[in-house]
Amino acid sequence: MTDILDLFPQYAEELKLLRKTAREFAQRNFSPELARELDKKEEFPWDLYRKAGELGLLAPSIPTEYNGGGFSTYLADIVVTEELVRVEPTLGTAIMSGPFSSHLLYFFGTEEQKKKYLPPVYKGETTFFGAYTEPEHGTDITQLNTVAERKGDKFIIRGMKTFITNAPTAKYGVLLAQTEPEKRHRGQTLFIIHTDWPGVTIRKLTGKMGQRSIPVGEIYLDNVEVPIDYVVGGEKGINQGFYWTLAYFNVSRIGPAAMAVGLMLSAFDKALEYAKKRVQW
Ligand SMILES: Cc1cc2nc3c(=O)[nH]c(=O)nc-3n(C[C@H](O)[C@H](O)[C@H](O)COP(=O)(O)OP(=O)(O)OC[C@H]3O[C@@H](n4cnc5c(N)ncnc54)[C@H](O)[C@@H]3O)c2cc1C
Repeated sequence: MTDILDLFPQYAEELKLLRKTAREFAQRNFSPELARELDKKEEFPWDLYRKAGELGLLAPSIPTEYNGGGFSTYLADIVVTEELVRVEPTLGTAIMSGPFSSHLLYFFGTEEQKKKYLPPVYKGETTFFGAYTEPEHGTDITQLNTVAERKGDKFIIRGMKTFITNAPTAKYGVLLAQTEPEKRHRGQTLFIIHTDWPGVTIRKLTGKMGQRSIPVGEIYLDNVEVPIDYVVGGEKGINQGFYWTLAYFNVSRIGPAAMAVGLMLSAFDKALEYAKKRVQW
């Protein structure tokens, strides 16, 4: 059977090696029992996340200076995602969702922001969040209720975000707010927000239908003071938030697709194994 990686001859050899590393890591460390236990308890697989970080599996396409894997293609992230999910879907999806939205900071953050915030994520020390959705704005985020009002060299942020992956486990992440409400999507800005800042409250959401090892929560912002240094991209990031978010979505949407392919392969592997040993007649 053709190996799909051979369609990319410039990367094929190194990606096959990466795939082998990911598969061996998952086969050594994942088990259906652990997956069931963590899913039932709605717990994130911290130990495995840290181990994946040590192996450079959390962000293969990010340069090594930020503790990424140093591969020059996003295909590397796809290969690892597919492989981990193929071995065990609950654990694989949780681990690869841990750095969610950190690529946005890699694409658009200042050098200082990237050096400070990315390495702890890719070492597996913290997860990361990207907070865009609000109770009244999901698919359509062209007008947000969360407002960031400029006061000199800082912003005061008020509002609420919901369904935010990793909000209960992350030390920080990025959040989209309306800096100039009358300009709608042209007046939105991305901010780096720490979950332990005064005025920030996180509420974990429980009881999802599945993927309960991936933590999801609400973020409440009650007059949170955010110095201008925390605007993603610095001064030039003001009012760029909507465009940068969509640019990031264009890349990141491939991640869930890779998870779906991994899940499908996992089902196929299990069905094949069972079909080979089932005695019917
Ligand atoms: C498990 C989980 C994790 C999530 N993680 C995050 C996260 O990390 N960060 C984050 O910001 N958000 C996150 N979300 C939120 C997710 O992005 C939103 O649920 C999604 O954008 C849809 O928004 P909504 O739920 O408000 O649905 P709605 O926008 O209300 O959509 C409901 C239905 O209406 C349709 N619809 C909407 N607008 C139109 C239109 N103009 N024309 C025609 N049909 C339309 C939609 O296609 C959909 O079928 C998460 C959600 C879940 C369930």
